[in-house]
Amino acid sequence: MRIDLHTHTTASDGTDAPAQLLAAAAHAGLDVVGVTDHDTVAGWTDAIATRPAGLTVLPGAEFSCFHTAPGGRRISMHVLGYLFDEHDPALQAEQRRLLRSRVERGRRMVENLVADGWPISWEQVQAMAGAGAVGRPHIGRVLVRAGAVADVSAAFRGPLSGRGKYYVPKQDTPVFEALRLIREAGGVSVFAHPLAHRRGPVVDDEVIAEMAAAGLSGIEVDHPDHDADDREHAARLARELDLIPTGSSDYHGANKPVRLGANLTDRDSYERLIAQPTARMPIAG
Ligand code: AMP
Ligand code: ZN
Ligand code: FE
Ligand code: FE
Repeated sequence: MRIDLHTHTTASDGTDAPAQLLAAAAHAGLDVVGVTDHDTVAGWTDAIATRPAGLTVLPGAEFSCFHTAPGGRRISMHVLGYLFDEHDPALQAEQRRLLRSRVERGRRMVENLVADGWPISWEQVQAMAGAGAVGRPHIGRVLVRAGAVADVSAAFRGPLSGRGKYYVPKQDTPVFEALRLIREAGGVSVFAHPLAHRRGPVVDDEVIAEMAAAGLSGIEVDHPDHDADDREHAARLARELDLIPTGSSDYHGANKPVRLGANLTDRDSYERLIAQPTARMPIAG
């Protein structure tokens, strides 16, 4: 079985509409695709409605989180939640808050860029995001179109870098609160790209152990932002902490070079994940 549990659509910062994503997933020979837009479930309905025969949709979302390390350093983290009740009031309220924060922060980052002479506008970024949850990749695409950078990856290495002078953080969710929200909404949680140090600082193993104790179910082991050492490290944590090891592409369409199915979850892990008691079921095509 070919199982890819982490993808993005135009509901956030992917470039494939949900129906296109499902068609691309079938074309890539996937049997299961997780639809996990940042901070929104807006892609679920179309993804489910357009699933081709033989392709199962695992509805989810990628929650923008942070943890404060000793010394006060703020570490950005992403948690994947699957199979939760999308109508849960607390979870819905938190997603709405995050979406508003994305808009506010996007506007401020664009102000910083414009003040320094970058040839873009907030209106262009809003148009690029459309109805989707606005994020840095949308600013990146506008920068590409303006000829200011070669591609979105170059924008992330340059003006959009989390370590750069234009960066403005979003008001993310404390990670233990996100784990509780997902659990109380009947979902299962997987720590996304836990060791992706290229993106910024990552948490220590002790924090991952605390997350496991707080109800985390799984951990991404195979992910494009993990090198061989990271994968080995994450696989060891999965064994030690009895977390379900997953693999995924984190596909973003044309916003990232990675292909659908670039990393996969094995069948045993998938079955362990969906065997947890959850508010929803995977939707078979
Ligand atoms: P934001 O959520 O607005 O802070 O933007 C970060 C998101 O951009 C990440 O979650 C990825 O989905 C995406 N991203 C990170 N690095 C890159 C990159 N080098 N190229 C394209 N997209 C990226
Ligand atoms: Zn993204
Ligand atoms: Fe992520
Ligand atoms: Fe992602």
